[in-house]
Amino acid sequence: MRDLEVGVFLHSLGIRDPAEAVRKAHELGFTCIQMGALPEEYRTPEKHRALLDLIKELSINVSAVCASFAGESYKDIETVKETVGYRNPELRQVRIQRTLEIADEAVAFGAPIITTHIGVLPKDESDSIYQGMLEAVKHIGHELDALNLTFALETGQESAAEMKRFLEAVGRDNVRINFDPANMILYGTGNPIEALEVLKGYIAHVHVKDGHWPPEPGKLGSEARLGEGDVNIPAYVAKLKEIGYRGPLTIEREAGTTRIPDLQASKKMLEELR
Ligand code: MG
Repeated sequence: MRDLEVGVFLHSLGIRDPAEAVRKAHELGFTCIQMGALPEEYRTPEKHRALLDLIKELSINVSAVCASFAGESYKDIETVKETVGYRNPELRQVRIQRTLEIADEAVAFGAPIITTHIGVLPKDESDSIYQGMLEAVKHIGHELDALNLTFALETGQESAAEMKRFLEAVGRDNVRINFDPANMILYGTGNPIEALEVLKGYIAHVHVKDGHWPPEPGKLGSEARLGEGDVNIPAYVAKLKEIGYRGPLTIEREAGTTRIPDLQASKKMLEELR
């Protein structure tokens, strides 16, 4: 895979079936994809094998697999706090276990990275929820090390400085960042270009997504077509190059009814910018 290969996060295609989505990504000219965890009906050896064969046959690289969990909702900030990642102590153990199952899928796909949203960190680092989330991430990092996998935590719900302190507290070389510039804008947690400077030693994987700032504090911003939001995509790509990032530029599109043309335009834009 070349440096700064333009990739796509498979769910951006708006196609639920992974094999169908892989075929469509290939048809659009993508050779690098990020996958989600496999849906229930794919968790049989036959289905899994067929998908692996397809990916191999089409010479597609899987750069990362995203761990997400049943019951997560990004409706608004309060719902994100209640439902996303390892924050809820009652769901934490089950989700750690599920992450490790997804890690096995990543190994099978030849992906070196698992990404996830860990959930909103409490501001008080002595809070038992903060400490529980820290222990969860340390534990998963330790387990993934044996599989040669990196655990990349997605940005957005924390400021860059808070994320950096958390990573320092984790203190593991295989726990890094999946940088999503739009999330920082959607959650109002800071200028993403400046955040890259703060987190530059920690970036394992990136999303290329655009968005608008929240209309008022406490609300979420809205996703935009690449180049039409507030990220400043040319400056983002330039900054990634400046800090020495060489991994894929994985396009993510989670909204809108014109996904395919949007992805085609985004791919073209990034191929010119990289
Ligand atoms: Mg993202």
